[in-house]
Amino acid sequence: MNKSALTLAIPNKGRLREPSLRLLKSAGMSFEVTDRALSLRVRNVEVDLVLVRTEDIPGMLIEGVADVGITGLDLMEESDPDAALVPLVKLDFGFCRLAAAVPNASSIDSLEDLRGLRVATSHPRTTARFLSDRGIPASVVALKGSVEAATKIALADAVVDLVSTGSTLRLNGLRDIGVLLESQAVLAGLPEVRDNRLVRQLVTAVRAVTAGRRKRYLLLNTSVDNTAEISRLMPGLSAPTIVPLDDPEMVAMHSVVDASDLWDLLPRLEDAGGKGILVLDIGQLVP
Ligand code: AMP
Repeated sequence: MNKSALTLAIPNKGRLREPSLRLLKSAGMSFEVTDRALSLRVRNVEVDLVLVRTEDIPGMLIEGVADVGITGLDLMEESDPDAALVPLVKLDFGFCRLAAAVPNASSIDSLEDLRGLRVATSHPRTTARFLSDRGIPASVVALKGSVEAATKIALADAVVDLVSTGSTLRLNGLRDIGVLLESQAVLAGLPEVRDNRLVRQLVTAVRAVTAGRRKRYLLLNTSVDNTAEISRLMPGLSAPTIVPLDDPEMVAMHSVVDASDLWDLLPRLEDAGGKGILVLDIGQLVP
C-alpha cells in the first residue's frame, strides 16, 4: 500500500459495519469489500480502508496505526483515558445510550442509590469516571459480555450497559435508572489529523452525506398567486427557486426541506395550492 494514502479504519463486523460502508460509498468512495477483506485501496481517492473490530479502532488511532476511523462514541470514551481523540463528524447512526439498570424488583431508583453497591459493566472506565465525577462511591465489576445477566447470578446489584430500544433490558427483567452517556457512530481521530488535506476532504464529503440524509428536495407546481404562501411554508436554504412553466398562470417551486417536517408539510402545501408534489432524496448537501 502507498504510504502517502490516508488509513481509514472501519468496523469489520457488527452493527456499525454495513452503515459505515454505505456512508463511505455515498460520500463518493469507490470500492468493493468481500466478507473476509482485511484491507483495501479505494479506487478513486488516496485512502486505504482497514477492516478491524469496532472496539479496536480507538486504540489504533491513539497508536497512529490508522489516521481516522469509524467507531462508537462509547468505545472512544472507554478506550481513551487521556481523551486524546476527537469526534470529527457525528455520523447519525449506531444510536444507543450507556444506561444503568437494576432488576425490576430492586429498591434502587436512581444513579445516586448506587452508593456502596456493585455495578457490572463492559464499560468499566466510563462507569468509574462517571460515578467518581458525581461523588458516588461504588465498585465496578468489569465484564466482557453478558452484562445483562450479572444481577441474576448475584455478581452485581446493578448493570451499566448499552441500550437502544430497551427491549433487551425488558427481556432480562431490568429497569433503566439513568443514562451515563448518549452514543452514536463517529468518525474519530487525533486532533492534529484535521490539518491533513485528505482528512479535510473526507470530513467534508461525510458531513455532506449526513446533512443530505436529514433533508429532501421538494418540487411542486402551483399558480403564481400561491407563491408567497408556499415560500413561507418551504423557505429552503435561502429562498425557494421559482421557475416559469409553459403556462403564464403557473410556476414550479423547488426547495430543500427537513425530512422530519414532511409529515406536516405535505398536506399544508397541498392546501396552499401545490400540485404534482415531488420529494427527492439528496445525496450530499454542503450548506
Ligand atoms: P458491535 O458490537 O460491533 O455490533 O458494535 C457495538 C457498537 O455499536 C457499540 O459500541 C455502540 O457504539 C453501537 N451500538 C448501537 N446500538 C447498540 C446496542 N443496542 N447495543 C450495543 N451496541 C450498540
